[in-house]
Amino acid sequence: MKIFCIGRNYADHAHELGNAVPEAPVFFLKPSTALVFTDRPIQLPTDMGPIHHELELVVAFDTYAKDIPVAMAPGMIASFTLGLDLTARVVQQELKEKGLPWEKAKAFDGSAVLGDVHLPMTSATELQGLRLKLMRNGEVVQEGDTRDMVHSVAELVHHVSHYITIEPGDLLFTGTPAGVGPIAPGDVLEGLLNDKRMLHARFA
Ligand code: MG
Repeated sequence: MKIFCIGRNYADHAHELGNAVPEAPVFFLKPSTALVFTDRPIQLPTDMGPIHHELELVVAFDTYAKDIPVAMAPGMIASFTLGLDLTARVVQQELKEKGLPWEKAKAFDGSAVLGDVHLPMTSATELQGLRLKLMRNGEVVQEGDTRDMVHSVAELVHHVSHYITIEPGDLLFTGTPAGVGPIAPGDVLEGLLNDKRMLHARFA
């Protein structure tokens, strides 16, 4: 399996990092070894500087999908949850300034945290208009609404599947709203989707 990730998909977050809002989706990949679950404390890397949380709506696929039209894209999605796209921010900044790939900052082991509650995708599911909230040790640090995405989930599926075949088991992280910040050992992060707790992660 592989993990697609979208960058700069909320204007407020693009602006907080000084980036322009892209015309076409910006995407990158994380390998399967990046995936980590929340059933035990998550070990943060100790030699890459600050590790930032990015709360994101995550959709999961259970089918092959290639070059999917926007109108058909929702039907390709099996379920959805929240996830954290962990980012070594200073490392990423250095790579960006040199025009180099981001993998070291974005794709390290344990960099894709997946929520433990997964909701099935049905014909009635509307993925735009979901409220995302991240609590760090009980305080709200990130808030967003998927209505504010630059590119809708269907547009993202259409775009990435044009270039790279989606396979069963793949995940798509759909971008983060503003409020990204560092995680410290001992932190508890809780992700809520429309006030329903989908993710509960403890960091070591
Ligand atoms: Mg992200």
